[in-house]
Amino acid sequence: MNKFIALAIGAVAAVLAVGGSLVPGTEEVLVRVTLDGQPVDAMVVATSANGRTQIAYNEVRQPGLVRLALAPGSHILRVEHGAGFTSAAVERGITVYRGRPLELSVNLTQVFSPAESWGYYSADLHIHSSASWDGFTPPNQLVAVQLAAGLDVGCITDHNTIAGHGPFASAARNRGFPVILSEEITSLDGHWNAFPLNSAVDYSLRKTPSDYFAEARAAGAQLIQACHPMHPLFGYFLLQGRPKYDDTFDLVEIYNGEYSRDDARTIERLYKLWNEGYRYVAVGVSDDHNWRALTTQAGRARTYVLLEGELTVESWLEALGAGRAYASYGPHVNFTAQAGSALPGDTVTLTAGEAFELAAELVLVPRYDQRELRRAWIIRNGEVASEFELVGDRAEISWTDRPTADGWYALAVVADDGDRAHSNPIWVEISGE
Ligand SMILES: [Zn+2]
Repeated sequence: MNKFIALAIGAVAAVLAVGGSLVPGTEEVLVRVTLDGQPVDAMVVATSANGRTQIAYNEVRQPGLVRLALAPGSHILRVEHGAGFTSAAVERGITVYRGRPLELSVNLTQVFSPAESWGYYSADLHIHSSASWDGFTPPNQLVAVQLAAGLDVGCITDHNTIAGHGPFASAARNRGFPVILSEEITSLDGHWNAFPLNSAVDYSLRKTPSDYFAEARAAGAQLIQACHPMHPLFGYFLLQGRPKYDDTFDLVEIYNGEYSRDDARTIERLYKLWNEGYRYVAVGVSDDHNWRALTTQAGRARTYVLLEGELTVESWLEALGAGRAYASYGPHVNFTAQAGSALPGDTVTLTAGEAFELAAELVLVPRYDQRELRRAWIIRNGEVASEFELVGDRAEISWTDRPTADGWYALAVVADDGDRAHSNPIWVEISGE
């Protein structure tokens, strides 16, 4: 027998004898995760005493079973499903001993469901798989990652490729998870996601934004989204005012990844566009590229859409296009007008000076620790019309205006940890104006 093969067999045998683990020097830790008693897709972040972290998800075929390979010693496990949106993360301290695989069970509790309470369903409209040149999440596992984030609709948006669609769609089908197939059209003039796409939109140095939009619509896209539009290098809004700029897109990312200066500048710019009468729909996205990194997390920012009927990709996209949506890092916003008869995206016709009654229910779910709502604002035509100091994790606010000119009203809210949300506008038209 070859000496090296013998050595290799010996090494594998030693590892197996030590604990049956496949990673030398580690033991298998199996975490069984349930949500209110039912096995659920989950993310587990293990932090060892020396500060090293390891992130694991269940396999897409096996919800509720998360496997980690951890070195002997003490670790903190953080177990999440929809953390910060529907249930709080749970932490457990464990000690791993050499030669002893460990198994533990963690039950999470659903705190709030915007779908069950209000009919709002979420998706993360900008997320990459390993089909992207800079992505790491295998397309089939992207399904488990999005289910673990507690998203109701899945999505895939790789840079200039639909190569991940096959494995992503088939894993989703097996799990009964509705998914939107897309692509991040990535050009020198800007980046756009198109929903849905039945075929690829290819990159070419010769194509203009209008060429890409036309090609995306021909490939089935009902909605085109301007991605990170104020990014200093890849922001499409930087092209505004130039002949190449095409304003016939539909959605604007106001939150991309962790909230940043670019997002704040996008919101300022979007307020101007809303004032000019463009009815672009504001969305929140993670732009996550790597399921094993915590720099961004799938669903960290997301978009909730209000459905009147059954949840399908078609009904979700149609309601999104109508503006029945809020973007969020955690706070939930049920924003209405005229005693619930008008919703975001609607236009209410009033006579000049007639009462316009706005109301909102706000709900905040703990992410890691208990947290509270801090402040909400009703924004009228880009300016703060009314500010509300909030306490606790639930609030109801109301405010009445008597508009004399056409305009729009939206609601913004922030929590004590900086997590925020923004509704889409309810529009007002003054009759006879
Ligand atoms: Zn991009």
